[in-house]
Amino acid sequence: MRELIKRSLAEHRIALDAGDYSSLELTRLYLEEIERRDGDVGAYLTVTAETAIRDAQEADARRATGCVRGALDGIPYALKDNFCTDGVRTTCASNMLKNFVPPYDAAVVSRLKAAGAVLLGKLNMDEFAMGSTGETSALRRTRNPVNENCVPGGSSSGSAAAVAALEAAFTLGSDTGGSVRQPAAFCGVYGMKPTYGVISRYGMIALASSLDCVGVVTRSAEDCGTVLSCLSGKDARDATSVSHPFPKFSQYKKDGSRPLRVAVVRELMAEGVLSSDVRHALQLAEKRLEELGAEIGEVSLPSPEAALAAYDVICAVEAASNLARYDGIRYGYSEAAEELFELYAKNRSKGFGYEVKKRILFGTYLMGKDQRALYYDRAQQARAQIRERMLGIFKQYDLILSPTASTPAFSTGTTLSAAEQRRADLCVVYASLAGLPALSVPFGKNADGLPLAIQLIGAPFAEGLLLDMAKRLEEVTP
Ligand code: GLN
Repeated sequence: MRELIKRSLAEHRIALDAGDYSSLELTRLYLEEIERRDGDVGAYLTVTAETAIRDAQEADARRATGCVRGALDGIPYALKDNFCTDGVRTTCASNMLKNFVPPYDAAVVSRLKAAGAVLLGKLNMDEFAMGSTGETSALRRTRNPVNENCVPGGSSSGSAAAVAALEAAFTLGSDTGGSVRQPAAFCGVYGMKPTYGVISRYGMIALASSLDCVGVVTRSAEDCGTVLSCLSGKDARDATSVSHPFPKFSQYKKDGSRPLRVAVVRELMAEGVLSSDVRHALQLAEKRLEELGAEIGEVSLPSPEAALAAYDVICAVEAASNLARYDGIRYGYSEAAEELFELYAKNRSKGFGYEVKKRILFGTYLMGKDQRALYYDRAQQARAQIRERMLGIFKQYDLILSPTASTPAFSTGTTLSAAEQRRADLCVVYASLAGLPALSVPFGKNADGLPLAIQLIGAPFAEGLLLDMAKRLEEVTP
């Protein structure tokens, strides 16, 4: 019976429809796996077992009367703890929001409820989604299920770890500068950041609003398409959401009349950027794509260091502004004080962890009168250049092939310098700055058994193509 938790969403759907097992049985299996494994993995911050059982029973009752709501009806899933859930604690893995219970659901949560999906619980993350290792969480440590001595990546550490550890059928995370793709790569699962605006961010606690995207974590490309189809679309409550006539992602078919044109980025292949195992995986992926009939070419982008610097500046500035609302008055960590300034200082210094405070200070400094033109404005210029350059590339190519991370998962507690840790994000920030869809695809393992991954980046709204290529790579990759 336990084997069932490995199955794909499509397999679950068929089995549920055929009555081979019920949503209640399936939900219990995932809950048992959480019980059995999560003490070591640490993916969950909150498990909503009681409501999950109730929702699964309701899904079964619907099915019995022939009213199935679609592909996700009765399917157990989990959410990164920065999506607001009505009545369920939502912490952002921070002491600041440790006891915050939102009075409403994020847009994606409403959609998944309407689709009949069963929420298993809320997942650990780097505090306020700032980090690339999962280690900045103030509440719990998450380990990489493939090798528990390694970090799971971040900031959606729990989202990737839960899917890799079979503790949910799929999960959602947030991707501002790689936070879904990079942990997916470290844990050996699929992670998709869609085109900016494709999924409503209403109710997803903001980090950097011009970059934030809802992301999807699954064990196959097809599963990813199924979830994306359910979530995409315009939402009046998020002015940046877009309506785009997406075909069902599973029905996407590439125009077969000409070969697929794939670009690799010269700057990422330069000496010293990638570890040798990641470089090797990338070369193998090129070969596989060629065998599938693709033509490979080389393109140039502004340097990854410049892209990372632009990202760091923009992210910090927007984060400083977004996090100003945690003042300990309306909500958030709250201790009494004699006067107002003391109250802010006390609550913000006790509520936030080191990484968050560092970025708020950095972002606030960058917007100072004398700094703004020097840093923020130049970062915006670099961002515009990157976007323009990438859109230019997509006039000649269908997709960009790159690594997701420059190394496989590193050991927990490794004494990497802050700069070395930031290098984990070198390859992911281009797509974030340009607002383009990008998918991390697991691609074999290194000699130590750690997952390797490649990243496919597409033109705006090319999610279907990315998923289709990933599926074809899946078929030819043992
Ligand atoms: N690792 C990146 C950072 O720390 C990405 C964050 C994110 O995408 N939420 O900024």
